[in-house]
Amino acid sequence: MNIGVIGAGQLGRMLALSGYPLNHRFGFTTKSDDESSSMLGLTFNEKECQKSFKSIISFADVITYESENTDVEIIKKISKKVQVFPSEKSLFISQHRCREKNLFDKLNIPCAPNQRVNSLSDLKIAVENIRLPAILKTATDGYDGKGQFVIHDNNQIESAWQSMNGNESILEGLVNFKRELSLIAVRSRNNDHKYYPLVENIHHNGILRKTIAPANRIDPQIQETAENYMQKMLDELDHVGVLTIELFETEDGLLVNEIAPRVHNSGHWTIDGAITSQFENHIRAITGMPLGETTPIHKFCAMVNIIGTIGDFNLVLKMSNTHLHLYDKKERLDRKIGHINVNASSLDELEEKLTQLNQYLPR
Ligand code: AMP
Repeated sequence: MNIGVIGAGQLGRMLALSGYPLNHRFGFTTKSDDESSSMLGLTFNEKECQKSFKSIISFADVITYESENTDVEIIKKISKKVQVFPSEKSLFISQHRCREKNLFDKLNIPCAPNQRVNSLSDLKIAVENIRLPAILKTATDGYDGKGQFVIHDNNQIESAWQSMNGNESILEGLVNFKRELSLIAVRSRNNDHKYYPLVENIHHNGILRKTIAPANRIDPQIQETAENYMQKMLDELDHVGVLTIELFETEDGLLVNEIAPRVHNSGHWTIDGAITSQFENHIRAITGMPLGETTPIHKFCAMVNIIGTIGDFNLVLKMSNTHLHLYDKKERLDRKIGHINVNASSLDELEEKLTQLNQYLPR
């Protein structure tokens, strides 16, 4: 099949790398000529907006997208001519934090207490209801911890609202979590579901640094609960493709933070660590192929993001059972430009390798 991808970053690149062995071809909408996926298929430059969407429509048998910030109106228009997966419903809900929270409420899925905020006075009322500490987030367009303000006391309320630049926001209670987890699943066109194991995500300054897969010492009941939440969402959204749920593990159980209707950074370990990667399974799902097994092939895996600078990666290439993935992106502060997958047969071995990687990633 010819697969069109809206966006041409590293996720599109890894989708293409997993889709070529299945005999698919790829085309991407691009914003510039040197994006991660530009050399991996046909490109349709978004600057010539109408024309580029017409071109990708005439190229593609099926279309997918890389980001939940994709314009819903564009997806609506494209869907009239060619099938788009995941559908517009998954996209519409996941690009707005308040819509996500409404979905969680509807499906009885627990999340942090929250309230919509459109003005300073809304925020003051929300603080009274939710109580501090709390976190104010823009309702749309937030990523890597951007557009967020943690409010610890009342005299920060005005600065918090100012930092939102008048954008619609949501106030959430600050969750005292033990760790952050995520669950990645895939649903096929004929309603098959497959789940990867829960993984643990370690963030710094709002950016994902490291994923441990599977998360250490996960009670099977926690996995079951997370899968149950996921199944409800996949079915409610009639979702086709990969869906990711980010969760907080607390003393009282799981709280869902947010969802992403796409392959996810916390699933990059699956390229070298699972029987079928999240990328291949997304491609299989949207093209109507049977889904692949999601079982890990190593006892312990980790994914470490390369952020900002590449450095001397020969150190990584010399390590056993370790795989380097670079995205053909220019170095820039806080930019994700690659990742490393590390596999191990014991936790000690994994920790030893992660310590070794610190020499390569001193920052
Ligand atoms: P998000 O953009 O919602 O994924 O938030 C980015 C990061 O901020 C999360 O990975 C958490 O580390 C933190 N965070 C977000 N929401 C909350 C919350 N309600 N309570 C505590 N920490 C949070």
